[in-house]
Amino acid sequence: MIIFKDAAVLANHVDRHRAAGETIGFVPTMGALHAGHLKLAGISLAKTDLTVCSIFVNPTQFNDPKDYAKYPITVEHDIQLLERAGVQVLFLPDRGQIYPDGVEGLPRYDLGRLEELLEGEYRPGHFQGVCQVVHRLLLIVRPDYLFMGRKDYQQCLVCQRLIELEQLPVTLEVCDTIREANGLAMSSRNMRLSENEREKAAVIHQVLQGIRSGLGAGKLSGPREAGLQTLRSEGFRTDYLEICDARTLEPVTDWDGHTPLVALVAAFLGEVRLIDNLGLHP
Ligand code: AMP
Repeated sequence: MIIFKDAAVLANHVDRHRAAGETIGFVPTMGALHAGHLKLAGISLAKTDLTVCSIFVNPTQFNDPKDYAKYPITVEHDIQLLERAGVQVLFLPDRGQIYPDGVEGLPRYDLGRLEELLEGEYRPGHFQGVCQVVHRLLLIVRPDYLFMGRKDYQQCLVCQRLIELEQLPVTLEVCDTIREANGLAMSSRNMRLSENEREKAAVIHQVLQGIRSGLGAGKLSGPREAGLQTLRSEGFRTDYLEICDARTLEPVTDWDGHTPLVALVAAFLGEVRLIDNLGLHP
């Protein structure tokens, strides 16, 4: 695996592969890698000729400075994992490579309602930060395929919108959520959970599954309220649990039985904020 720290040198390397007719896959991450990230890399390796992964903890997407300060960093271990997985290129930029003119005056993107709903409401500015870093990375790497995890469902919709807004010649491939044996969605933030909390965190997936198995046309407030109640009684502090239109993320309160739905949750266990979601359509 070749590790690049310089954006121009990396771009040059990828250009040479593209000129030789190879397809380029890109997997952006913030490091502290786990099996979910490696799954994305594996899918890229199978589908494209050259897989580029990046590790960059993007300051502009953290609305909470404490969350940024505590974000786990395990670069040496990450490098070993990516090497073992067969990834050909790792981009490991510092802040100056991504934001050469600083973080003031960065572009803003018209994300419409996606910026106001769910994560948009609870993490103001988060998706602008995601777009700033993903846009910059896509302009450097210029991949044919961008691989992202459904675990961050709203982020996938936002990045699809970014691709359309900026007319970027890349196809977004959304990959299934990889889970622990108990159902907990893998996440770098899980490293900050105690053993007990990791067990308890499985309740999130159970609540989502409960909503899916009890789903029927008509009012959805009952299952939603029951889910919130379960989370709270298990000691979670919930930001939201919503059942939404899977395409727009507008909340659905009265289901016609046809509109594709997704249930999404964000909840704190201790100091750690966890998110997860589950498609509800049969
Ligand atoms: P992050 O490092 O958390 O920014 O995540 C980098 C990419 O990995 C994003 O596209 C995430 O959606 C994806 N990802 C994170 N956790 C998982 C998971 N458990 N399963 C699948 N993809 C994931």
